[in-house]
Order: sequence, then C-alpha cells, then structure tokens
Amino acid sequence: MLASSQWDQKIKTIDSVLNYLYQRQLFNGAVLIGDNGKVIYKKAFGIADTSAKPLTTLSAFNLASVSKQFFAMMAMILKEDGKLNFDDPVQKHLPAFPYSNITIRNLMNHTSGLPEYFELADRSMTLIDTLDNEKALAMFAEKKPPLVFKPGEKFEYTNTNFTTLASIVEKVSGMSCDRFFDERIVKPLGLKNTFIYNINMSFYPDSRVFGFYYENGKPVSNDLVYFDGIVGDGNVYSSAEDLYKWDQALYSEKLVKKETFREAITPGKLNNGSSKDYGFGWFVDTSGNTSHSGGWVAFGTYIKRYINKKQTFIFLENSGVYTGCNIVKAIIEGNAYKLPETSIITNVNLIDGTGTPSRKTNVRVVDDRISDIGDLEPFLHETVIDGKGYVLCPGFIDSHSHHDRSLDKNPEAIAAVSQGLTTIVVGQDGGSDPVDTIKEKLKQHPTAVNIATYTGFGSLRSFVMKDDLLRAATKPELNSMKALVTSEIKKGSLGLSTGLEYEDQFYSSKDEVIEMAKAVAAAGGRYISHIRSEDINIERSIEEIIQIGREAKIPVQISHFKIAMVSKWGKSNDILARLEDARTEGINITADCYPYIMWSSTPRVLFPKKDFTNRASAEYAVINLIDPNTSVITSFTPDKRFEGRSVTDIGKLNNETAADALLRIIKESDNDSAEASIIGVSMSEQDIVNFLKWNHTNLCSDGSGGGHPRGYGAFTRLLRRYVREQKIMPLETAIYKMTALTAEHLGIKDRGVITRGNYADLVLFDPARVTDNSTIGDPTALSSGIAIVWVNGKIVYQNKQSTKIYPGVFIQGGATAE
Ligand SMILES: [Zn+2]
Repeated sequence: MLASSQWDQKIKTIDSVLNYLYQRQLFNGAVLIGDNGKVIYKKAFGIADTSAKPLTTLSAFNLASVSKQFFAMMAMILKEDGKLNFDDPVQKHLPAFPYSNITIRNLMNHTSGLPEYFELADRSMTLIDTLDNEKALAMFAEKKPPLVFKPGEKFEYTNTNFTTLASIVEKVSGMSCDRFFDERIVKPLGLKNTFIYNINMSFYPDSRVFGFYYENGKPVSNDLVYFDGIVGDGNVYSSAEDLYKWDQALYSEKLVKKETFREAITPGKLNNGSSKDYGFGWFVDTSGNTSHSGGWVAFGTYIKRYINKKQTFIFLENSGVYTGCNIVKAIIEGNAYKLPETSIITNVNLIDGTGTPSRKTNVRVVDDRISDIGDLEPFLHETVIDGKGYVLCPGFIDSHSHHDRSLDKNPEAIAAVSQGLTTIVVGQDGGSDPVDTIKEKLKQHPTAVNIATYTGFGSLRSFVMKDDLLRAATKPELNSMKALVTSEIKKGSLGLSTGLEYEDQFYSSKDEVIEMAKAVAAAGGRYISHIRSEDINIERSIEEIIQIGREAKIPVQISHFKIAMVSKWGKSNDILARLEDARTEGINITADCYPYIMWSSTPRVLFPKKDFTNRASAEYAVINLIDPNTSVITSFTPDKRFEGRSVTDIGKLNNETAADALLRIIKESDNDSAEASIIGVSMSEQDIVNFLKWNHTNLCSDGSGGGHPRGYGAFTRLLRRYVREQKIMPLETAIYKMTALTAEHLGIKDRGVITRGNYADLVLFDPARVTDNSTIGDPTALSSGIAIVWVNGKIVYQNKQSTKIYPGVFIQGGATAE
C-alpha cells in the first residue's frame, strides 16, 4: 500500500483534474480507485441522461468492450461445471458455425482469424432490423466469409470472437446470457447495478446510464443503435462500485477456482509458441497487470488491475470524451500528463466551409480541435477571444503551393498565414522532396503551417533516369518509378504531380504517364498536373488528362487552370463544356486556379516546341503568348540589371526587339547555375473568372515568398476583387472553394470544414476590409483585414505579425489517414 500521504497528494490532484475537465464538458462520468480492498476515491460527475438526472457511483454504465471479461468468466464457470473445454471446437457446441478449426480458446484469446461482424451485418440488414447473436451466427453460416488468417497464427482483436462466445454460453447453459449472468455472477457477488441489456429487451433498471455528447452547449443523445441486440462483445452494464466488487472477487474463489482464473490473466499463445498480451478478455502487460478499455457510442470505459499492488482504477464515461482516463491513469502511475486547453471565440459570423449561409455564433476550441459550435457560454477562467462580428471560417488550403521553398529559414510562413493559409500542398509541377525528408525537415524546423505533398513525376524521373530525361522511360525505369511512387503514397503522399510542360517531363510518353497513374490509383493516391501545354496545345493537353483519369480510374486535377495565349482567349466556356462532358462520363476531373491574369515561370515555357534559339518562335511568343510591355523578369542571376524590367525594356537596354531580348534571356540563363523567372501577362480576366466560377475549381496560389504577387495575395485577392468588388460569387462559395472543396479534391480528412471534432485551423477576417496589397512592384506587401489565424488550435498570426508559434503538422494523404 502506498504511504497514505502519497495517495492524499495524488487523490487531491485527481479530484482537481476531474473537476477541471467536468467544468469544461470534457468529462462526465464516475471514477473509483481502490487499494488493497479499500476504496480510496470514488466520485461521479455530471448527468446520467439528457434529462439531467445526476450520476452516482451506483449508476450503471454500458461497459462496451470491458464487457468481454464477463463473458470469458461465464465460459470459465461452464468449464468448471464440466459443460465445455477451452480447446473444444466451436462447432461442437454450435453446429451451424461454419469453421471447423476454431476453438473456444481461439475466441477468448482473439486468435481465431474471424472477420469483424459489423460491415458484414450492415450489408445484409434492412433498416428495420436489429442485429442479435442468433442472426449474426446465421449470417456467418450463410456467407461464410473467409478467415483473415489461420486460427492461432496471429492475434487480432475482433468483436465477433466474443459474440460467438456469448452464443456458446447460451447454448451450453441452456439459458439466455442475461439470466445465466444474473444467476452465476451478479447474485453470488451481491452486485446491485449490474446487468446485461440489449435493445430488444423491454425493461431496464433505473440505474441505466445513457450516452450523449454536447452540441450547442447542450447534451444530445448518443446511445445504443441497431447493432445492440447483440451481446458478448459489449452490453454489460455496471457501476463503479459493482466493478470494484467484481475486481475484488477475482482475487477470491467466489466464481471460479484460482487456477481456472489464472488462464484468463495469462497471455495466450500462438501456434508458433510465442505469447500475445491478451488472456481471456483481459490485456496483460509485462508486469502482470491486467486492463481493458471499452468504447461504444458515447461510452468510454476502462478498468485496470495493478495485481501485484492490489490496486484498481475504474473509469466510466458517457459523454464521448476519454481524455480524463489517460490523465488519471498517468497521475496514478506517476507519469507526466497535460491538461487540455480550451478557448472560446465569441461573436463571429461563422462560414463553415460547406457553402451554407453564414450565421452568428460562438466556436469552442479544445487543444487542436473544434469541440463545439453554438450559443455557448464561456467556462470559468476560459480564454475568450472576441470575434468582433467578423467572419470565422476554416483555414484556407492551398492546393498548389511553392511556399515551402524557404520554410526552414522562415518558419513563420508569413506569405502563407498572412493571407489566411493554414495548409500548403507542395511537391507540385512534378518536383518534390521525399516524404521522409519533408517529415524530418518539419521535425528539425517546425513551421506555422501544415504541409501536405504530392510526389513529383520529374523528381522520380531524375532519380531513376539521371540526366537522360529528354525521352520516354523504358519499361524497367517505369517499374522503378511505379514502386517509388507507391511507397511514397504509403508514407503519406497525396499522389502524383506532373509538370508535363517542363523539359524533364515533356518527353515522357502518354503511356508512361498513364502507367504511372495506374500505380498511383492502386495505392489509393490522386493525380494533379501542370498539363503539357497551357497555350498552343491546350486542347490536346486537356484531352490527355481526361484520358489519364479514364484509363487509370483516378481523380485528376488540372493545376493553375488558365489559357495562356491571346488567340485562344474566350475559349474557357468551350473547355469547361468539355470537362463537364468528361465528368458526365464518370471521370473525376477538377481544377485549381489562381486569380491573376499573369503567370510566373521559367521563360523557357514561352517556347512550346522547345526550340529555344528559333527567332520565329520568339516573335510568336511576344505576340501570342505574353504582352512583352507588362511581362517582367523577376529574377535573373546572370545579369541583375534585367530584374524588375519588362521584356521590352530589356530589349531597349541592348538596342534590340522584345523577341531578341527573349532569345538573349534564354541563352544567357541556359546553364545549371543560372536562374531566370518571368511574370508573363497573358490571360483574359473573363476566362479566369469563368474558371474560378466553375463548380469543380478550388483556389490555389501557385505562390512562394516573393516574385509573383500571388505568393502573398492570391486568397485575399479573390475575397477583395472577385467577391467584394465584382461579386462573381457569394462569400460562402468563395470560402468553400478555399477550404472544403479543396480538402475534397486533395483527399484530406478532418480539415476544411468547421465542425465538431475537426482540426482547429481557422481564419478570422473582416470581409469589408480584406484586401490583397501585394503587387509586382511590392510582392511581399501583407494583406489587410486578416485578423487572426489559428493552426491546430494555436494562434499563428495576429495584428499583422507572426506569433512565432509553429504548430504545423505533416498531413497524411487520404490513402494513409486513419
Ligand atoms: Zn505549374
């Protein structure tokens, strides 16, 4: 027994922690701690149901999976009655059971290989069915789903093991489980508030606790469902006090002999002789302590028996929050813990990201998540942030970003967060770092924004084909690239990005890209592409991405959608009609777009035929592809004088035409150490507006920390120029295209919508003032009107400044997200 002063201190801490959590709607339940037969702490907090009936330590909670130990006990009792043996085949007692080689021991040890029943049942049930044990058994008999592994080969926790065990108990005992349970466990132990209940029963005791969650600050029912006619894996109800009696009885021989029970708390063995950490309904740790947790609808339960010390911890919760269990356990065991932090953002005009109209409300954040929305009152001592009636919306997601280029030196990511971006998606245009490198960098240099990545086709080609890139890949090269992209997707990449206009990828064949896309589809990834031509061959390039979507059966997204050619201006509606046809055909094609009539890239893209010394092509470019008077060279390492000047002006420096200037720019920068970039003014605003308005376009910046003004202003520019000034779409639609739609296009979960449980990536802004201020002349001017930006619940930007807090995480792609 612990010295009582030590317990006193711990109990004081536990009680204050539970109070703290309860006052913040982060705990509603009962806790009991026992030491050598003595209850040293027991207390209930909150309500037993949505009518606000108070909980007590006698209230009977649904134990969820903590029920399993009781069914295992029933099997042990029947063994001592001489009615079964643990090594009996299940079929001996249940002839309809369709697998001959599974034993009762396999069920209790979770080594049977049986698949989970939930999905199988859901497929065969109608809306008026309730699942029960008989139906579950009949369903397995009829469908005989294949085993996940050979019995005894592996340990895999599966509820079907214990629903099957319950059927055996009924069959062998000749009575219903609840009656056998009552006669052989409840009555002998003198339990007062312990029973088996399923929703086909008409009666339940007064002590039954109901599950709920908080919505709008008020409890909303979250209790048993149509699966709950079944028992065995769950549906034992008990109170904290009864569970302590149960725990104490397990040290005695009131139910079964010690040697029988010892098997329940001894790790089961696999066929190869190795032990797993599970007995009969109990997890067993290396010190011989046993425990089990349970979670079902809003119930979260836990019992831990510190067998050597004869101490016990019982935790029962019915509002869907499990945090308290881990904290109390940490205090008991002397481990570190962290209390959740909560804050409330009041007086906001909520635009939740789904496109639905804004509404006045409050939002509560707990740690990194949104916990509640509604007419909420601040808790005692809670941090309150006055939203001043501004718009609160999900943090903006940039589906095509190059903001990562300087993150290790500028972790504030000011270009991104100052326009409301909370997630940047990098690895674009076919150029990426490996996922492991990005994760490692993020660990070394935490940043303000979240990062997700595609895997770049150009990077894969360079890795596999070295410098020999101006050709299609061979079959062995293709196979290597397919293996690489598959492994990257498993590590968290969203899929494959291509930049087919760039020379390292331009010479790939269509087949090569389709084969890559098929491998990506098989791995659960997606495809995003800077298409092969945005000017002369835009139509053929659009056909190519449609074909990739069709043949690889993969979602495809056109990057930075534009028509970069004067003579094709006005064709946006034709192109969109073609995309709509493709969608009707069943191809999931989407696009992203930035709201400017100028692009930024290498000047080499102005030679679509890759004939970089051809004067006729240069003349064609300055007439058809850009306006040389307004298109500006933004960086040019061979001759700094060129930087900031238009192509026409650079020509004047050398007494030559704009076309000659273009040839010179290419020639002088044609070596590996040189860098040249140009902002090309070449799109029609009407086309851009049409693309932005398309239902399947989300916003992107394509920006970085300078150069093109989009790096600092793309998202605020949409809000200012196209929503407030030109009113091309409602504000709610614009936000949708910056958040929820984007998350959908990327396969990112739990972000992009303000809803309970999602990550708290948030932007608070003044819609009347929000303005992009960045221009070609001043590309790093901060936007106005962005008041506060949160990333994972932490404020990263406020008062036009970084808070120097870096909570950004790597976001796993949909193929790997849990
Ligand atoms: Zn691009």
